[in-house]
Amino acid sequence: MAEVLVLVDHTNGEVKKTTAELLTVARRLGTPSAVFVGANVDAARPRLAQFGAEKVYVIDNADVTDYLVAPLAEALAAVVEQAAPAAVLLPSSATNKEAAARLSIKTESGLITDALDVQAADGGVQTTQSAFAGGFTVQATVTKGAPIITLKPNACPPQAAQASATVVPVELAVSDGAKSAKITGSEPKAKSGRPELTEAAMVVSGGRGTAGDFSPVEAFADILGAAVGASRAAVDAGWYPHANQVGQTGKQVSPQLYVACGISGAIQHRAGMQTSKTIIAVNKDEEAPIFELVDFGVVGDLFEVLPQATEAVKAK
Ligand code: FAD
Repeated sequence: MAEVLVLVDHTNGEVKKTTAELLTVARRLGTPSAVFVGANVDAARPRLAQFGAEKVYVIDNADVTDYLVAPLAEALAAVVEQAAPAAVLLPSSATNKEAAARLSIKTESGLITDALDVQAADGGVQTTQSAFAGGFTVQATVTKGAPIITLKPNACPPQAAQASATVVPVELAVSDGAKSAKITGSEPKAKSGRPELTEAAMVVSGGRGTAGDFSPVEAFADILGAAVGASRAAVDAGWYPHANQVGQTGKQVSPQLYVACGISGAIQHRAGMQTSKTIIAVNKDEEAPIFELVDFGVVGDLFEVLPQATEAVKAK
């Protein structure tokens, strides 16, 4: 079976959940091979092996890690040339979508971004995307070259399948043209102790209905082990950081469970959460548009409903 390349999302060798998801998806299309960019591959190997990576192409090269995007695309193109894969999968992020676009030009292959699902299909690979703020579901197939696909987090539950994760070092000379923007410093984000919003399996969000008091939203999120999101109204009021904003001008999330508390359901908010698998809303206005798209709705005051829900989960 042909190889399917998966770009590893990691922090200093600590592999993120999205990589396990992509390796699981890759097994539907061929034999997964991980592409690891950076040092400390030894820390990453056990998890890559656990989710089915037969090979790990390692690009440990400062000319790639010290510069923005263009060298990464060159590095991926070098691995594509070496492996002749059936497909290349990357976790969706601003950087990876740019790298994927550059890679598709270099390899003259078709590109699909922000896929929600990927399946093997007759003569190719079929993807599912959501378009126009979730108004349309689009099925698409790449017709030229090995498909390059970026996948949103939570596209598929990770399933373990032990493999060997054999390390294959990749030698590469990055062109001077690609080294046009050097990274001069990077600060790790202060950790909240909660999962990353775009990666979380569950998200509890608060809106203007919180009146600035996010404590019931946070308490419910914490009992579930969920990330906390916010509507733009809450962010614009200064009640929650912009990094937590969900929507058209915020983050796009696609968790297993999304709980919207005191959020009316404006189209710009839906654009960031409509592809969530299960949606619950708590709103005291039964006419609120959010109830049009929920799986479960609670008409009530979030300051009464959320503490009860938190206690009920705690009691389990
Ligand atoms: P509101 O619309 O004011 O709704 C508050 C809701 O809380 C109401 O339904 C009310 O019934 C309910 N409520 C009040 N009190 C309680 C209570 N005690 N218990 C339960 N329910 C209660 N918005 C985003 O969210 N994300 C974006 O990325 C985004 N991008 C935008 C981009 C553009 C270009 C524009 C024009 C707008 C954008 N917006 C975005 C703003 C969007 O149009 C809405 O204004 C915003 O989503 C409203 O936020 P909200 O639902 O919290 O507030």
